[in-house]
Amino acid sequence: SSPLEHALPNVDDGGLGKAYTSVPEPPRKWDVCVVGAGLSGGVIAERYATLRKQSVLIVEKRRHIAGNCYDFLDDQTGLRLNLYGPHNFHTKLTNVWDYVKRFGRWAHYYHKKLAWSEGRFVPFPLNTETLNTIYDQHLMGANETAAFLAKIAEPCGPGGCSNSEQQSVASVGRAAYNQFYRGYTLKQWGVDPSQLDALVTGRISVRSDFDNRYFTDRYQSQPRDGYTRWMAGILSDPLIDLVLGVDWFDVQQRLAGRCGKLIFTGPIDHYFADSGLPKLTYRSLRFEKLAVLNIGEHGYYQPGTSVNYPEMAVPFTRSTEYKHYPGQPRSNHTVVVRETSGADGEPYYPVPNPRNHALYAKYKALADKEALKGVHFVGRLANYKYFNMDQAIDNALRIFDGLDRDSAPGRPP
Ligand code: UDP
Repeated sequence: SSPLEHALPNVDDGGLGKAYTSVPEPPRKWDVCVVGAGLSGGVIAERYATLRKQSVLIVEKRRHIAGNCYDFLDDQTGLRLNLYGPHNFHTKLTNVWDYVKRFGRWAHYYHKKLAWSEGRFVPFPLNTETLNTIYDQHLMGANETAAFLAKIAEPCGPGGCSNSEQQSVASVGRAAYNQFYRGYTLKQWGVDPSQLDALVTGRISVRSDFDNRYFTDRYQSQPRDGYTRWMAGILSDPLIDLVLGVDWFDVQQRLAGRCGKLIFTGPIDHYFADSGLPKLTYRSLRFEKLAVLNIGEHGYYQPGTSVNYPEMAVPFTRSTEYKHYPGQPRSNHTVVVRETSGADGEPYYPVPNPRNHALYAKYKALADKEALKGVHFVGRLANYKYFNMDQAIDNALRIFDGLDRDSAPGRPP
């Protein structure tokens, strides 16, 4: 295996053919400048351009669009891989689904996960089949399963669950917590689950039936031509100028007075680097690619798209075989990508603990003052909040509506 890398062409704007590699010279000016070409920045840019007919400049540090959704065709196997880890779109929000559908074709897809534990694959999150397998039961109905879960669970006190250990023990019991949550969370976050907010493992449901879907949202789909192409659809309006491979902080001075509003979607502590506040912490991921060549067009390495490895003896947390996703090109080969976590590298996950919550509140106070100067902080990194894709889109749509309302003509300031 080798690190997952992608030899980018000069820039990858998803086929738009309009990306600059440096900021256009004066006298060019824009109604809105956006830092970051990921979901949040893309959606805001699209709204200003198509609804308000305003000019937008997006400045993106990476040499490609689509943020962490970015995917590309692997040279070695022809399969489409995500450079920053698998992305599964799911939402119960009809407005978000209606929005995303407009920018490309989607293929219906239910994501499923297996956990590799004690030498076998079992459905994850825990469902009736998992419980039957690991506890040698013969549960069938929802009532039986719920009663069994109630027997093994150790509920949190009257104050509620105050960390991820308590939360998961309350939902699946101590033994299953040790088997499926403790090691995975230690590997993923580098700390014991007792040191993390309950909302971290609170993302994981427990099922009293045989439903083995990872998500239960009404809308679950993948973009047929990949996330990068789909994102290109969002950025296609001619009023949107795109600069790739340029760090905002390097061109900020040159753009002074040339942006009406500024939408910042990068890490909030980078924006306020001179504030004297300590840095927020992020969890990062590293990806190892294992290509298996000539396995055949219908040959696979693992039994499903995604396998979790909760055991400490296995160094990685999860393994994704992209060939299982819909919309993949035909290939005689396959690839699995394995993830390990660390403290250093690209910021992926905000780390939800009391220290970071208190510190973020201080950054937020600075951000609120900056709003008076027309600077707005949008998205996962700028709000230090773990958004799913649909939440990022919904949040960006709402922020646009709010800003748009404030700036509508004829309104008192
Ligand atoms: N988790 C776990 N075991 C698993 C999967 C998840 O303990 O097999 C915990 C872990 O702490 C993880 C959290 O639940 O960070 C949320 O999992 P999710 O699959 O939502 O993480 P993501 O895919 O967003 O990284």
